[in-house]
Amino acid sequence: MINEKMRALGAKRSVIRELFEYGKIRKAEIGEENVFDFSLGNPSVPAPDEVNAEIVRMVSEESSILLHGYTSAQGDAGVRQAIADYINNTQGESVHKDCLYMTVGAAAALTCSLTALVSPGEEVIVPSPYFPEYKVFIERCGGKIVEVPCEAGTFRLDTDAIGAAINESTAAIIINSPNNPTGAVFSEENIIALTEVLKSKEAELGRPIYLIADEPYRELVYDGVKVPYLTKYYDDTVVCYSYSKSLSLPGERIGYALVCPRMADFTAVYQAICGAGRALGFVCAPSLLQKLLPAVLGKVSDVSIYDRNRRLLMEKLSEYGIESVKPEGAFYLFIKSPSGDSNEFCERAKKFEILLVPSDDFGCGGYARLAYCVRTEQIERALPAFRALGESYKK
Ligand code: PLP
Repeated sequence: MINEKMRALGAKRSVIRELFEYGKIRKAEIGEENVFDFSLGNPSVPAPDEVNAEIVRMVSEESSILLHGYTSAQGDAGVRQAIADYINNTQGESVHKDCLYMTVGAAAALTCSLTALVSPGEEVIVPSPYFPEYKVFIERCGGKIVEVPCEAGTFRLDTDAIGAAINESTAAIIINSPNNPTGAVFSEENIIALTEVLKSKEAELGRPIYLIADEPYRELVYDGVKVPYLTKYYDDTVVCYSYSKSLSLPGERIGYALVCPRMADFTAVYQAICGAGRALGFVCAPSLLQKLLPAVLGKVSDVSIYDRNRRLLMEKLSEYGIESVKPEGAFYLFIKSPSGDSNEFCERAKKFEILLVPSDDFGCGGYARLAYCVRTEQIERALPAFRALGESYKK
């Protein structure tokens, strides 16, 4: 029998994908240059040169049998050791290769971690706004998403509200910093407050509450902002990382889940992630992409281009009377709807050929998400449309 829940998921595209498809049709109708598509977080800055150079070197010099063959289920041991060394050198951590499970991007790291840590009927706390796929991933495990709004306006974690939401059924919390869709980076102070709450709740409940750190935007930060490395603050942490954004490789699908080595039930959790990878058919992340990593660890796509886009948009939108939240990281601008209604704002923006994602889809009303990982030229061309959009609220 067809699984109706899965059919429903497949039949309905995410709102973001829906807009992206609408944009493609509209571009065919009125010309690519006349549609200002800010819907999708698809990096426009190319991968660092070293990425293609290393792929070319590998395919020309290395044994194609080894290069394209299966690796261990959890990923190539040498690759995992190189990543562990990199994390230890850059974060002062002491992780080892067997803390790492290679995955097809952050999405699979999240589904493996959630499948490993959440049993049917359990709850997962998600500060809102949040990446909409979390709900799909949690519900697939039979879990229940519990949304806890971030502090209004600043989008910092509301640690008191998170504490109040924790109960006997709480299995985990997912934290995403730098954040999609707000661009917020949770400060060390905010993270310490969060982990203090989690530790006291763990003591009260007498069992772990897992912290899942979803970090595909870790390196995309501005003005020297620091992103705390969560295993250093809380032992029951699993980091879900991806090279999709830092190396501009979203279509290549490579990332990992990392289990903190100091976790009390480390072995069981790591085994459960390996088991989840097996049950979900995710063993052996793409071999070529795994083997690329040791040569490009620490390389990042040119963040200065995103920074330039961020500054240009912030300056111009405020000039046009459109308010937004200053992003400290990632490549999203969270824009306040002048009417207070996110759908109304995005529908009106569409009339000016500007495609924005309504914030309701991220579990928070009143805003729109603009993905500025586009060519600066697209933003420059869109400015008259943004000006007209701003003007339309003054009439
Ligand atoms: N988590 C967040 C917050 C994201 O924004 C995305 C992708 O946009 C993902 C996870 C999925 O990342 P990946 O492409 O590496 O699977």
